[in-house]
Amino acid sequence: MSLDFSGAPYEKDPVYMMAVEQLKEAAQILGLSDDVVEVLRHPERLLQVKIPVKLDNGKIAVFIGWRSQHNSALGPYKGGIRYHPNVSVGEVVALSMWMTWKNALAGIPYGGGKGGIKVDPHKLSPRELEELSRKYFASISRMVGENVDIPAPDVYTDPQTMAWFFDEYSKIVGYPAWGVVTAKPFQIGGLKVRVISTGYGVALVAREAAKKVFGGLEGRTVAVQGFGNVGRYAAFYLAQWGARVVAVSDSKGGIYNPNGLDVEKVMKVKNKTRAVINYEDAKRISNEELLELDVDILVPAAIEDVITEKNADKVKAKIISEGANGPTTPEADEKLAKKGVVVIPDILANAGGVTMSWIEWCHDRMGCWLTEEEALDRLDKKMSENFNLVFSEWEKKYSDKPMRIAAYVIAVSRVVDAMKLRGWL
Ligand code: NAD
Repeated sequence: MSLDFSGAPYEKDPVYMMAVEQLKEAAQILGLSDDVVEVLRHPERLLQVKIPVKLDNGKIAVFIGWRSQHNSALGPYKGGIRYHPNVSVGEVVALSMWMTWKNALAGIPYGGGKGGIKVDPHKLSPRELEELSRKYFASISRMVGENVDIPAPDVYTDPQTMAWFFDEYSKIVGYPAWGVVTAKPFQIGGLKVRVISTGYGVALVAREAAKKVFGGLEGRTVAVQGFGNVGRYAAFYLAQWGARVVAVSDSKGGIYNPNGLDVEKVMKVKNKTRAVINYEDAKRISNEELLELDVDILVPAAIEDVITEKNADKVKAKIISEGANGPTTPEADEKLAKKGVVVIPDILANAGGVTMSWIEWCHDRMGCWLTEEEALDRLDKKMSENFNLVFSEWEKKYSDKPMRIAAYVIAVSRVVDAMKLRGWL
């Protein structure tokens, strides 16, 4: 007899329901039974915490937070912690499931986890934010640890948040527990290259795809939507490796020059004025126009659901490297697959950050730090291997379907194999 989870607090959440649909699709291809899907769709552990914070005005505000530990068959849980006013338990559980697949696909020894606090951090003073962060981490401290669950930053959390988490946990256990969180400031066990690693990885897989589709990256044109942490470094490295970045954008609009943009100059303009449209040597375009440009490679690196059923037919790029999470809707993904577009799915393309986190964690646990060059070489090797494996499985078995299917099938089967070997199924 199996437990009835129908009352679980996340069951009706739309983000969670989408994650379950994706799992079911992969499970069907793998021939997994319904009871195995039932095991996989729920987190192993889910903790809800209450976090009272004394505000600067003397009042007490109470916040709610969660940590979801979805699956640990392949190793300790790993995944970020987000601070956002719209965070819900369903979203946290769904994101923890996605981390299970992303880490399995990345070939790193981690399961999946995710955490969140329902808060608008911009409304808190630095002291209030520090108190919230320390109390949250203390509340989940019995659930985390270097060998148990290793958080990292996500939306509106950063290396400073990780420094507070690291310090709070180290006080509790009585030794400097470098390996308990990743993406720490480099002075306390982090890696300087962590900040570029997601964008670098997005560029790496696009480079590998360009070898398959065009025979190389040299001279290929690129458009990048979103010029934040991910988009700017994807653009930077693609340009460094010989591609011509002709368009970039941010929330205020885009710029286009068919002869190519000077990416470093665009970075300076963005840092100084907070908008890429202030770069002079280019024509202004909208974010919608950028997606439909006649380019070889498109990198959506801003927000979700930008390539949809409505504009998929107008997309001209032959390769799409998904820097953002969920930029392509399932309907658009199907349409693009039929047109022969290589859409490198987010769980593969934007795994550079978590892969670099793993590199940081390995070295923190040995108590020795890597050089930047060594860390990037490791990332390059790991992500190129992962891309080539997914690409060849896709070509062999599912080439009429989105590449995402191949990625999910590999990820889910790795987790299921580990569960079977460990006697869990
Ligand atoms: P960021 O906040 O640094 O940058 C986001 C960029 O997108 C900014 O330039 C912003 O102006 C732009 N933007 C926002 N709304 C836009 C819109 N409607 N149209 C066009 N541009 C818009 O964020 P980031 O860290 O670069 O993350 C971008 C995406 O990548 C998110 O989906 C995130 O979940 C995903 N991601 C990030 C990481 C990471 O390590 N940072 C890892 C995996 C996935």
